[in-house]
Amino acid sequence: MTVARAAAARAEMVEEVRAMALACAEQTGRPVLSPRVLAALAAVPRHRFLPGFEIAHAYANDAQPIGHGQTISQPFVVALMAELADIGPRDSVLEIGTGSGYQAAILARLARHVRSVEILPELAAQARRVLEELGYAVAVTTGDGRLGDAAHAPYDAILATAAAPRIPPALIAQLRPGGRLVMPLGPAGGAQTLMRGVRDAGGGLDLHACLDVRFVPLTGGPA
Ligand code: SAH
Repeated sequence: MTVARAAAARAEMVEEVRAMALACAEQTGRPVLSPRVLAALAAVPRHRFLPGFEIAHAYANDAQPIGHGQTISQPFVVALMAELADIGPRDSVLEIGTGSGYQAAILARLARHVRSVEILPELAAQARRVLEELGYAVAVTTGDGRLGDAAHAPYDAILATAAAPRIPPALIAQLRPGGRLVMPLGPAGGAQTLMRGVRDAGGGLDLHACLDVRFVPLTGGPA
């Protein structure tokens, strides 16, 4: 029963995200979301990452609170970040800010290896449990993601799902040349911009602004 209702709600969510992507494509003149990313969105049971939520809320195209003052991102933004990271089936991907684990599950459908770092141990434990139950092989670690996860670098893509005024240098250092960084930049609670950067051979980052967004801040004191 729940499974059938969830599947119907998920199909509706994917249609809403697709419509939003088409509206953006009309403005920008290029496709915004690929079939591969939309298929990942259609496959991951978002409600499992939002226990205690009504199915309709779990699949609304909105951000939702996940406790501890944190939020799961809007499905369109989750899809857009995955798209901007340009993930191939052989890629190794690092996410900063596991939260509910939902974005990590989407990434796991697109990449070969996914690691995710979460600063709050309770959220890391809960995400780890759900990801495992659903069979997603994501390595969730607890720590300050501003330091990345050097032991498994370099990565083909790094996504941060929390905002900071500046890009943590470790994240750039842990990208391979040609690797993509997708992250919201800007002050806590203020105007933030989702940025996409591609690392060049010299260790620099070619950065472009993609969308005005609002994310929770990357926390942890001075890094
Ligand atoms: N990707 C998540 C959304 C996460 S919200 C999802 O799909 O649900 C941002 C998350 O970043 C929160 O869980 C927050 O605790 C975490 N976070 C904040 N600062 C962090 C840091 N320095 N290192 C790692 N995680 C951090």
